[in-house]
Amino acid sequence: MKTLKDFASDINKCSKCGLCQSVCPVYKETGNDCAVSRGKFVMLDGVLKGDLKLNKTINKYLDLCLKCGKCKDFCPSNIDVCKIFETAKFEYVRKTFWGKFIWALESKYIFGSCLNILGRVQKLLSGGLFRKRLKASPAAKKLRLVYFKGCVNKVYPKVENALMKVLSFYDDIEIIEKEFSCCGLPFLSSGNIERFEEVKKHNLELLNCDYDYVLTDCASCEDTLKSYGLEKVLNAADFIAKYPKKFVFKKPVKVTFHKPCHLQNIDFLAKVLEMCENVEYIEMQGMEDCCGFAGEFAMKNNKISRAIGRKKAKNIIDTGADYVLSLCPSCTLGLHQGFAANKNFKHPEIKNLIEFLAQADEII
Ligand code: SF4
Ligand code: SF4
Repeated sequence: MKTLKDFASDINKCSKCGLCQSVCPVYKETGNDCAVSRGKFVMLDGVLKGDLKLNKTINKYLDLCLKCGKCKDFCPSNIDVCKIFETAKFEYVRKTFWGKFIWALESKYIFGSCLNILGRVQKLLSGGLFRKRLKASPAAKKLRLVYFKGCVNKVYPKVENALMKVLSFYDDIEIIEKEFSCCGLPFLSSGNIERFEEVKKHNLELLNCDYDYVLTDCASCEDTLKSYGLEKVLNAADFIAKYPKKFVFKKPVKVTFHKPCHLQNIDFLAKVLEMCENVEYIEMQGMEDCCGFAGEFAMKNNKISRAIGRKKAKNIIDTGADYVLSLCPSCTLGLHQGFAANKNFKHPEIKNLIEFLAQADEII
């Protein structure tokens, strides 16, 4: 595992050009240079030189980050910003009592077991233990899809059920389900790199099998699985764009789309919308702007999170769409938070894109 010292040359690559300020949602909201990568690098450089201590104040600024990666994508020095912040967070948290307590809660014995128990209870309640698996006819050439079920789907499988409904209209596919752990992204946010490596190892072991694609319905899971070094990861919308269907809606509906920060591209969007009959797309202003949620960030920096979400939600409301579509459960919470902050306005219904497609009157 790398230490902060191993990133010294990357930190020094920061030219202090300040370009990251123009894309950082937290900087735009607060105007605080310590919120953006440039300011964080100044502090971490001080830590490495021994001028500053990696203390509570620096940790507060490490937490003042949505891990959206916008600065990373924009940085002319090509610095892997999030990796550095995660490492610094790990080095700080492992020395604190509270941090070790949180990490203990995230262990497979507590977090993993709770998720398993909730998942089993949920399956029992929905009769899902006996759900029929989607299988291709033995004679047909099968497309083998390993379904990566994210944590939210384990507890509340609304999107999973919608995805399985859409997939049931495909012949010749086989869904392979495995007992994956969480993708690990939440552990990175709390600096728990050891736990992240543990779940990554477990998930990679399960993927040591024959498959065509790993399929996910969550942008954050997709991004994290790709960070494992996996190449054949597809989000469900990309899959539909690649293997088209027709989605017929009897009543005309207007939709808009919020791009989750972790979604690497939205090439699928135009293709999927073209497959929909009676669906009008209205692009919102700032489609790529962050919803401001990002799990822990919303808890630790709630005022800023709500302020970012409020602006996002206003842009969505202004479209007059019936539905705002997305591909990330965390964004769904962020959009709810944003709409709550705009409670005097009528807002569109929030749906995962797959959930929306599954409610088509006809899928051909
Ligand atoms: S864009 Fe990159 S190089 Fe420029 S200040 Fe930000 S982190 Fe440093
Ligand atoms: S990851 Fe996002 S929130 Fe964090 S410093 Fe970069 S742009 Fe700002």
